[in-house]
Amino acid sequence: MKYISTRGEAPAQSFCDILLGGLAPDGGLYLPGIYPQVSATELAEWRGLPYHALALSILQKFVDDIPACDLKMLADRTYSANVYRHCRPGRDAGDITPLTTLEPGFHLLELSNGPTLAFKDMAMQLLGHLFEYVLEKRGETINILGATSGDTGSAAEYAMRGKQRVKVFMLSPEGKMSAFQRAQMFSLQDPNIFNIAVRGMFDDAQDIVKAVSNDAGFKARYRIGAVNSINWARVMAQVVYYFKGYFAATASNDQEVAFCVPSGNFGNICAGHIARMMGLPIARLVLATNENDVLDEFFRTGVYRPRVTAETHVTSSPSMDISKASNFERFVFDLVGRDAGKVRDLWRAVDAGGSFDLRGTPYFSALPDYGIVSGRSLHADRIATIRDVWKCHQVMIDTHTADGVKVAREHREPGLPMIVLETAQPVKFTETILEALGREPVRPKELEGIEDLPQRVEVVDAEVDQVKAIIVRHC
Ligand SMILES: *Cc1c(COP(=O)(O)O)cnc(C)c1O
Repeated sequence: MKYISTRGEAPAQSFCDILLGGLAPDGGLYLPGIYPQVSATELAEWRGLPYHALALSILQKFVDDIPACDLKMLADRTYSANVYRHCRPGRDAGDITPLTTLEPGFHLLELSNGPTLAFKDMAMQLLGHLFEYVLEKRGETINILGATSGDTGSAAEYAMRGKQRVKVFMLSPEGKMSAFQRAQMFSLQDPNIFNIAVRGMFDDAQDIVKAVSNDAGFKARYRIGAVNSINWARVMAQVVYYFKGYFAATASNDQEVAFCVPSGNFGNICAGHIARMMGLPIARLVLATNENDVLDEFFRTGVYRPRVTAETHVTSSPSMDISKASNFERFVFDLVGRDAGKVRDLWRAVDAGGSFDLRGTPYFSALPDYGIVSGRSLHADRIATIRDVWKCHQVMIDTHTADGVKVAREHREPGLPMIVLETAQPVKFTETILEALGREPVRPKELEGIEDLPQRVEVVDAEVDQVKAIIVRHC
């Protein structure tokens, strides 16, 4: 299996060679040269597999430079009941992603039972084990530098804590995360985790990460790496639960399903697109956005117009607050028939701060072939949906999942089971749950009182040199 760049001007690489990097050298994103196909026989064999075995079967189709027995060990370690133990009462943690049926043909797939209570653990946990394994083989080390407004940073830290050969330097805007999110990250005492609170906004933190990564000398000297959402292995790991959810919601492989995906950077739904390209019977992928509707706009109109920072709304589903969708280029590469020259043309405009318009082109006419439809959900919809699901089903959902449920309801088709991906647990967004339900979500026992634990964080001004100095001091 060789991986190619969406911009077509970087050499094809093997899995382990792209694992630790981010963008391809030509500025594109890596994708498999061809999507592996799943036969009817395989699909039949996979239906009964536990998560870790299903994950191994799927990963083997994408990874041919890690021996099967080692890959098995990594999948077994990653997808264990012990890691995904925060499931609803009465669910089997061994399912890893249990299915909750709200009404016949309408389900939630629980993806947020991992250590940080958001779906990003599903992929990040695998990344932690893969990084450790490959760095050990190569005798290398890496210093991961990232910026977070909440979910990504904590998922990365919990995946990398205690890992040999990996240090994590995570920037966050001082005082902007919730008390719970701060406690999740800052209470980690592992010596390879460094929390850095920046006096400024998320964008200031992000700009510092970019500036450090663009300093080629510093980057090479201090072996700076990233685990952001364009990392191919994260997308790959997410493909697995589309298969698992499909098997859980159907009785036979002749059936089709729809998935609804609360979306921000297009990473999660990109994995759904890939599962569909591999042959999983997905009739529809429903993309849900919040007030930040750049993707909904594209799927309705054919116009992709990234927003400027000032146009980005701060919402009650904050992990979907994006101005542009960093994984979207992967989908567009397929949409334009894998014509890398065309992708280069389109992103020449995007990278210069512009937009593109596919209306009236054969590409826009081809869009229905990909099965993606979309909708958006606003704060009032979120509140109403959280209330309604609680009242009718006694199930408490978080704000992002509520966006998914709202849009999924608008796209139901007779006879087609709908699976909404549950991307976080309500306890992460207590304030909005209080507003909707007048009560606080119940917290997993072991997370009670984490706000009172001692915290480790260094506070700096929004200055590149102050962050560099911390990295130098600890490496
Ligand atoms: C990251 C995140 C999303 C958005 O996922 P993308 O892969 O960026 O589309 C949705 N919900 C939650 C809770 C998240 O943490």
